[in-house]
Amino acid sequence: MPFNSIRGQDKAIALLQDSIRNNRLASSYLFTGPEGVGKNLVALTLAKALNCEKSSFDACDECVSCQKIDKLNHPDLHLLGAVSGDNEDESEVIKIEAIRQLQREINLRPYEAKTKVFIINNAHQLTAEASNALLKILEEPPAHSLIILITAKPSLLFRTIISRCRILKFASLPRLELKEILKKEHHLPEDEAHFLASFCEGRIGFGLKMKDSAIFREKNTIIDGFSRYADSNYETSLPQDRATIRKHLNILSIWLRDIYLAKAGVQGEEIINFDRRYELSKLAKDYSFSDLDIAFKAVSDSLLYLEQNINTRLLLSNLRLALKG
Ligand SMILES: [Zn+2]
Repeated sequence: MPFNSIRGQDKAIALLQDSIRNNRLASSYLFTGPEGVGKNLVALTLAKALNCEKSSFDACDECVSCQKIDKLNHPDLHLLGAVSGDNEDESEVIKIEAIRQLQREINLRPYEAKTKVFIINNAHQLTAEASNALLKILEEPPAHSLIILITAKPSLLFRTIISRCRILKFASLPRLELKEILKKEHHLPEDEAHFLASFCEGRIGFGLKMKDSAIFREKNTIIDGFSRYADSNYETSLPQDRATIRKHLNILSIWLRDIYLAKAGVQGEEIINFDRRYELSKLAKDYSFSDLDIAFKAVSDSLLYLEQNINTRLLLSNLRLALKG
């Protein structure tokens, strides 16, 4: 995808393209911002733009170099660290061996590219040893090379590393803007686009990843499954992995928030489950504010317990009982 097709990061992209044009690219960058807003995509596109055989300031996506980078098999592109998934537990640390390997590579001339590009994902996962080794490289960057550190948690990086990088901040889109993109460019129906834009908190990468999933139908199954009027033991049929359960808890907390807003008399765009707005105004009468407080607490406690090693089956059945009121 060329720069001009990436949505939602105009400012960061304009800065990078200006720097390429004026030959003022830094030797190392730190891309910060929430997960799922396009940091990784922009980093790869920058690698393409710097080495494209047809275009000067952007990727053409057609030349051999662009295609090799797209397939992640360009000999001068090096990726370190795991790419974050939406809900996956991050555990992979970046060890000193990986940075030593980087050091060997970066001192060689590029095989076929104009610029060797090193992308370090989840840079906050660098061990202290690895951070110190990287710092030495950042202090004396070899020519023909670019290092891009990516993280959603810059506060966990060594300050000395941050000070050696040019920082580019990536932000989420306003929800309304993401909703319009999902509707106009990806042809999602109004209610689905509305839900997804809010559910993803304006993070376009997640929005685009989830737009073809069954999340819209799924969230309604979840809401029905945990409804105080459901008589089945819905939770016993659920997969017990933490990512699935976390998704359920997030959906339920959005649903409770909607009931709360409906009860407070809020209508329109603020309601995330807009497709169920009529039911919401009915539920607003059924639930007292104290019912809702108890339900909210049950969900937020469950999210906390989930991070500990709790029996997830027990957690879900307790939750359902609490939500029954
Ligand atoms: Zn190209």
